[in-house]
Amino acid sequence: MTVTQLDKDRILEVHKQTAEVIKKGNGPFFARVYDKDGNIVAEAGNSVVKDNCPVYHAEVNAIRCACANLKTYDLAPYDLSLYVNAEPCIMCVGAIMWSGIKKVYYGVPSKDVERITGFDEGFKPNWHEEFAKRGIEVEGDIEVEAGKKVLEDYVNSGKEVYMPSR
Ligand SMILES: [Zn+2]
Repeated sequence: MTVTQLDKDRILEVHKQTAEVIKKGNGPFFARVYDKDGNIVAEAGNSVVKDNCPVYHAEVNAIRCACANLKTYDLAPYDLSLYVNAEPCIMCVGAIMWSGIKKVYYGVPSKDVERITGFDEGFKPNWHEEFAKRGIEVEGDIEVEAGKKVLEDYVNSGKEVYMPSR
């Protein structure tokens, strides 16, 4: 899989939407799901704090939304692509695997997300390879600078970096 200009444009738009949902009280993550004809099937921001649910990451919310819109628990027949502003965390890697999404494109890699925000993205040994074995294609580190800027603005505005107390 190669990253096309269209993919870059979609990630840039996802970064913009991330900044928009932050203004609405969401966490600094946003995901959008496209079908193969370029239609937006679903989109969502992270709503962990807003909805009092630790699993409501942007990817999980977008998958829930896509499944509700298509009235299915298996997205595989729809040949969908998920675009997200940051590399999926350990939970979202799992959620994407169970969803039937076929292609994943992400912006900022986890190491940068963790460095900038302090969020813990979890352990993900060889997830690109594991996805490839299952026929799920992944491309990352797309339009990273624009994505990092949104995360830095989130942190600099003093917004919450939420995680379980340890
Ligand atoms: Zn996640």
